[in-house]
Formats: sequence, structure tokens, C-alpha cells
Amino acid sequence: MTEEVYKEAAQNVTAWYRQYGRDLPWRRTGNPYHIWISEIMLQQTQVDTVKPYYERFIETLPTVEDLAGADEQRVFKLWEGLGYYRRASHLKEAASMIVNEYHGRFPETYEELLKLKGVGMYTASAIASIAFGIPKGVVDGNTLRIVARLFNREDNIALQKTKNAFGEIMDAMIRYAEPSDFNQGMMDLGAMICTPSKPSCDECPVASLCQSRECQTVLRLPVNNKVVNKSILEYMTVVIRDGDRYFMVQNEQGLLQHLYGFAQYGCDMPSEFEKAFYDDYGVKIRLTQYISDIKHVFTHREWRMHVYGGEVVDPATRPMRDFYKLEEIEQLPVSTAHLKVLKAYLKVLQ
Ligand code: SF4
Repeated sequence: MTEEVYKEAAQNVTAWYRQYGRDLPWRRTGNPYHIWISEIMLQQTQVDTVKPYYERFIETLPTVEDLAGADEQRVFKLWEGLGYYRRASHLKEAASMIVNEYHGRFPETYEELLKLKGVGMYTASAIASIAFGIPKGVVDGNTLRIVARLFNREDNIALQKTKNAFGEIMDAMIRYAEPSDFNQGMMDLGAMICTPSKPSCDECPVASLCQSRECQTVLRLPVNNKVVNKSILEYMTVVIRDGDRYFMVQNEQGLLQHLYGFAQYGCDMPSEFEKAFYDDYGVKIRLTQYISDIKHVFTHREWRMHVYGGEVVDPATRPMRDFYKLEEIEQLPVSTAHLKVLKAYLKVLQ
């Protein structure tokens, strides 16, 4: 009985996808490199946001060799605004691995794909099924929700054991369908029909099989009990000016690794900031004006930035590097949080 349900559900989803699936730029190609780029961009970002970034990226770096040989700053610039910049750094590292270890041949198995930096189980399943027709079900928020509802399962989807169990159900269903269209059908069904709060069950291709619909538990599912501790960090963030140039520094590690930002320290007093900056950079500055408070929210973290303007006061200590003109800053990969800071600063002081 269960196998029959798997089969019918898989075939219904696939047929529905072929008729109603979204027309997206990365669905007009079978090129695994292009599919990989799109999947990495989609990991933490909405489809509509990804579209122009994907097109620009593929136009600028059309092959894995182009990406492997590209200047890192150029890759980060292409990524600017997408967030989670580690993804861009991992892409470049994985591209070098493909060129050097696989001689430019894109890995074709689920296991090989998993070895690429930045590729987890979801992305490996997506690339394996879409580019190579391998029957490996994708497991993410959308497919977990559909499986929970379709089979009226109250397991907590925040737990890895539930993800594994639901992944096995996806793998069982995908055997009865064309893997690429089935997985993409499940992605679209979750995004368009079986949505979290307002599912359109009347338009759903698996409505006649759906056990939560029958049991009237649709809106209670999936069960998702997770504890997210968002830490709040307070900073003084200062736009330090020297004539028509501004101090910016590239983060060497951490959340915003590789991105440029203004100087910021976790201190309260202008004098503390000035001392910390002198200790780090050997440049004497003074804070001249309060600009505004700016909040920036990351997944598990929130920055509260108290933004000030400042200037170099002792030209003898002025360094040649680390200060940039506005037109040069436009070319640097700058964190979204600090682009907000720059915008607020320019609004007040220009
Ligand atoms: S019938 Fe409704 S709840 Fe069931 S899978 Fe379809 S959209 Fe989701």
C-alpha cells in the first residue's frame, strides 16, 4: 500500500511540475556548473533575489575554469549583497579542486559532490538529480513540510533523525519518477502550493493522497521545535575620514570574512575607540559627530551599531593604505551592514 502511495505521489508531483513548474534561468540548462552556482546562491536566499545575481555571475564567469582562475575580489564583488559570503569563498575553493583534482570534469556522483567545499546533503542531492538524473531526494524545509503533511507525521523536523527518516521517504518516492523533475516539483510544490500558513490544497496534485488533509491537521504540521539563541552585539562603528578618503579594513576571518567594513569596536566611549584604533593602526583620530544607531540582523546574531563620523588628526601618523575614495569603495566587496552605515553617514554629512 505504502509503495503504491509513494508511486502515485511521485508521478503526480512530476506531472504537475511539467505543467506548472516555475520557469527559472537555471532550469534552462543542463550544465552542472551553472546548476551548482544556482544551488549555492539559493541556499540562504530567495529565488527572486538570486535571479539577477545568477545571470551576472554566469555571464562574467561562464565556466568552472573561469571561476577557479578569477581574482577573489572579483568573485566577492559579484556576490556583494547576497550575504553569507563564505559561500563565495567555498565556491572558489571548490572550483579550484574541480580544475586541479578532476581536471575540469564536474563530479558526477552524490558522494563526489559531497566532497566539494560548501556542498552539503541538500545541494549534493539537488545537483546529482538535476544535472545527472541520480535518484536522490532533496531534504529541506519545503520537502520536510510536504512529507510531514502528506503522511500526517508529527515528528519534530528540527531533529536530524527526522530529516534522515523523511529523506528516506523522499528517496523511496523518487525511484518512481524522473529524478530532476520530481525534486524540482517538490521544491515548487512547497514554494507555491503547500506553503506554511496558507496551503492551496484544492490545487495540490497530491491532495487525494494527503493524510493530514483527511485528518484536518494540515496547519499543525510540520512540528518544528527549535531553540534559536540570537546574541546581540553592541558596537561603536566609525566612518573615519581623511580628506576625500575613508578608512576601510578587510575582515580576515569571522562572519564577514573577506568583506570590507569600517572600524568598529565593542566600546562605549569615544576616547576608548580612539585609543583602540591608535593601538591597532598607529593612526591618531578623533570622533567628530554622532550619526545614528543602526541595527543589522544575521541568522543567529544581531549587531547594534552606534555610528559616528571621525577624522585623522595627526597627518604624520596617516598611513598610505586602508583609506579609499568613495568611487573606490564602490568597487570593494563591502558587508551589507556597513553599506547601511555608509548610507546613513552620507545622508548626514553630504
Ligand atoms: S493537500 Fe494540502 S497539505 Fe496536503 S500536500 Fe497538498 S497542499 Fe500540502
